Amino acid sequence: MGRPAGAIEATRRQGQSVGVGRRLLGPSLLAMSAVALMGLLLKYDPHRGIPLVPPCPLRALTGIECPGCGGLRASWSLLHGDLASAWESNPMVFVVIPALAVGLVLWLKAAVLNTAVPQLPRPVVWGILALSAVWVIARNTWE
Ligand SMILES: [Zn+2]
Repeated sequence: MGRPAGAIEATRRQGQSVGVGRRLLGPSLLAMSAVALMGLLLKYDPHRGIPLVPPCPLRALTGIECPGCGGLRASWSLLHGDLASAWESNPMVFVVIPALAVGLVLWLKAAVLNTAVPQLPRPVVWGILALSAVWVIARNTWE
């Protein structure tokens, strides 16, 4: 009796090793995207609007201060050395950007060393998402 096709395929996948170039694809694309975003932020000021980018739909529909747009303005301010303006736009960038940078470095390290990418425990991820949601609600209600 032969094994089911799915088991054979799973065994075949386990036996294949993926080259370092393929493993580096994901983190490299993320790093290049970050560099491209920084380039755009050096050229365009999101406080004044970015050409060809429509106004924020969340803000337009709800009037809510959008954390994404605030993060973009805060990133622009950081790139221009204005920490106070960055804090005013979205203080979360002081946590999120370093955390993303650490995550990217860990992903690159895992890709080079061919090890598993370290992951946060699921309760920590849910805690971060819950705190972020609380932050967005609090920020939009306290003024
Ligand atoms: Zn927005």
